[in-house]
Amino acid sequence: MTYTLPRLPYLDDELEPAISARTVSFHYGVHTRTYIDNLNRLIKDTEYADMPLEEIINTAPAGPLFNNAAQTWNHLFYFFQLSPEPKKIPSVELMEAICEEFGDFDEFKKKFESEGTAVFGSGWVWLCVDANKKPVIVTTGNAGNPMTDGLTPIMVADVWEHAYYLDYQNRRAEYLKKFWDVLDWKEVDRRYADLFE
Ligand code: MN
Repeated sequence: MTYTLPRLPYLDDELEPAISARTVSFHYGVHTRTYIDNLNRLIKDTEYADMPLEEIINTAPAGPLFNNAAQTWNHLFYFFQLSPEPKKIPSVELMEAICEEFGDFDEFKKKFESEGTAVFGSGWVWLCVDANKKPVIVTTGNAGNPMTDGLTPIMVADVWEHAYYLDYQNRRAEYLKKFWDVLDWKEVDRRYADLFE
């Protein structure tokens, strides 16, 4: 199998002002493409060549293969939940679940932002669903993905510096506040609803 960089359903400049065209073009067009190129090189003629991406992430030992497989998955998951015309709130079902866990929607957003801001170095802040189908916020370092801990991710913010440095320099908290402006809950709702089918 050869992975390719899928075309995004929006133009580089359409997430502005939250995320600039320059950031999208580097972060997707260069960084994400590089993870995919590395992944293709690392799986070629190995037992991983025809393995589903999730299975590679769940079975690869720590190292370059895991890192590039997970970064491929994580970035596609991140970019395909963003939209220039996002649905701004979750479905009734997901909103109820979020409010039950976190108090209210604003409290949830605050907690997500503060956990993302607190990641030391490079990583990700995730909204996942646990084995009891409850929403939970978790963070991972570097290429980490919560699926290896048995959680199901439904939303993510990339907190590597390359995700925000061109637009916000070191102000990660500000980037995370603006992230909501382009996060499309329609896609998150779909991921959540899939868990109940
Ligand atoms: Mn990234």
